[in-house]
Amino acid sequence: MQLWRDNDPQSIAGVLGAMLATATDRIRRRALLLVVAAIVGGICALLAGVSAWLFALGACLALGLAALIGLDDDGGAFARDGEHHGRFGEAEPVGGWRAVLDAVPDPILALDEAGTIIHVNPAARELHVNARVGGQPSLLTRDPEFLQAIDEVIDDGRQRTVEVQERVPIDRRVRITLTALAETFEDEAATDAGSPPRVIMALHDLTEQDRLGRMRVDFVANASHELRTPLASLVGFIETLQGRASSDPAAQQRFLGIMSQQAARMSRLVEDLLSLSRVEMREHLPPRTAIDLNETVAAAIQALEPVARASEATLTFIPCEGPAIVLGETDEIVQVVQNLVQNGLKYGRPGGTVEVAVRRIRQGPSMRLAVAVRDKGPGIAPDHLPRLTERFYRVNAKSSREKGGTGLGLAIVKHIANRHRGELRIESELGKGSIFTFVIDEQARRPSD
Ligand code: ADP
Repeated sequence: MQLWRDNDPQSIAGVLGAMLATATDRIRRRALLLVVAAIVGGICALLAGVSAWLFALGACLALGLAALIGLDDDGGAFARDGEHHGRFGEAEPVGGWRAVLDAVPDPILALDEAGTIIHVNPAARELHVNARVGGQPSLLTRDPEFLQAIDEVIDDGRQRTVEVQERVPIDRRVRITLTALAETFEDEAATDAGSPPRVIMALHDLTEQDRLGRMRVDFVANASHELRTPLASLVGFIETLQGRASSDPAAQQRFLGIMSQQAARMSRLVEDLLSLSRVEMREHLPPRTAIDLNETVAAAIQALEPVARASEATLTFIPCEGPAIVLGETDEIVQVVQNLVQNGLKYGRPGGTVEVAVRRIRQGPSMRLAVAVRDKGPGIAPDHLPRLTERFYRVNAKSSREKGGTGLGLAIVKHIANRHRGELRIESELGKGSIFTFVIDEQARRPSD
């Protein structure tokens, strides 16, 4: 991008204006000094017999030059009060090595020849509250390998990388690269005054990467475990049908029934895994279509009527007044309602009621819509509540599997809520039942209205 356009009168006028403003500012700030100098100069000139007109011309020229030439005490030609200060209020001369380190988004510390911390960039301050200028690197960690590496880098100037594991106050793993600087930074402008930097310490926090890695391993282990169990059962029954039960029609019928259940369980699991990965992939793209929540929830519930009848439960629905417009993906909202209602039917009291209601709620200045699914089942103990939306987390794994659960339903609901910039609220009381509420912003009207 070209910042300066040749022969552009507007640009030239702008630059002249800026120069005039700078000159006025400088004259204002040095007014007292200049006035005293002009009076003294005037008296000397008159005594020396110089004409008043000639003196006036000279004084004007001198004032102009004084305004345009920068003095050291105002921080250079482009510095103004408050400019070029580090994020934490440290003055940073333009172009100094500290300013360069501050511009780097990764955490970096600089050490001098004695191994004392002489600079901590803003990213490092956020990561390590303990690192401070004038302190020792042992403030960060007393890991002997790390402290020895610093001494060695200062001695022989060769780069070293160490990994440091901390347990307190939080579990954290950091990779530290120590690089020696060959330059001596004798020049005042380059060193920003004070000791010159000898070692640059770049920190790379591996904690998040480790956490994601662990999550991936856990997820694959859980998913394969969930698939392996029904698969092993299918293989076992196939062998039995080929062998012992090959001439027992009654046993064959029974085993085929179990095999069909196991195959259905595997297929539900694969479907849920695919749903989860689809919604995760689109989580950053909020839906833009205006839909009516009353209509969508009603359709989702209608599709579940046969399931409710099969478990002899009653399903009720109370829509909210007027149109309930949200920006949403119909299929995903249907999936939220179906997952929550199916859970109400599965874990609620046999032959009980599952109530679904769409309600309008005020939250701060905005109106939101809530789809609440309530059952009067056994409820959930409070210590389980925060973990219910984790993948494969179940209060009782055996009971969930027996009821056809995959342990992924609420994780899917949570990701759909995130995609809709909404939330899932869970309230439950042991012995009384549970309310799962999906909350989403209400839109004033359909865009086409
Ligand atoms: P699942 O496929 O096991 O139902 P979910 O992710 O839908 O998986 O639910 C996770 C766990 O939360 C369930 O295994 C169950 O223990 C508990 N849970 C969900 N909904 C209810 C409910 N309405 N009442 C009691 N417990 C519930």
